Amino acid sequence: MTSPAKRKALPRIDPARCTGCGWCVAVCEPHVLSLHPGPGWQKKSGLHDASGCTGCALCAVRCPFDAITMVRTADIGRR
Ligand code: SF4
Ligand code: SF4
Repeated sequence: MTSPAKRKALPRIDPARCTGCGWCVAVCEPHVLSLHPGPGWQKKSGLHDASGCTGCALCAVRCPFDAITMVRTADIGRR
């Protein structure tokens, strides 16, 4: 398993595309994704523990709605 210290990317979840289906939560081995109440009845996925994410990108690959983009950690915070 990739150590979080060597993680090169983190998932960015687009709440406009996320349907709350939960597939990303199911495939995330370190269990750092979870569903949270969104607007109305719909749930939205979120990364609740970025430090535990390995950057494996399984969540992005599995998402049927293209709601997850992997963002290089070096780019996070840049505009
Ligand atoms: S797999 Fe995609 S659409 Fe489903 S909960 Fe995760 S981010 Fe949302
Ligand atoms: S990149 Fe991998 S470890 Fe990180 S949230 Fe997605 S499935 Fe989980």
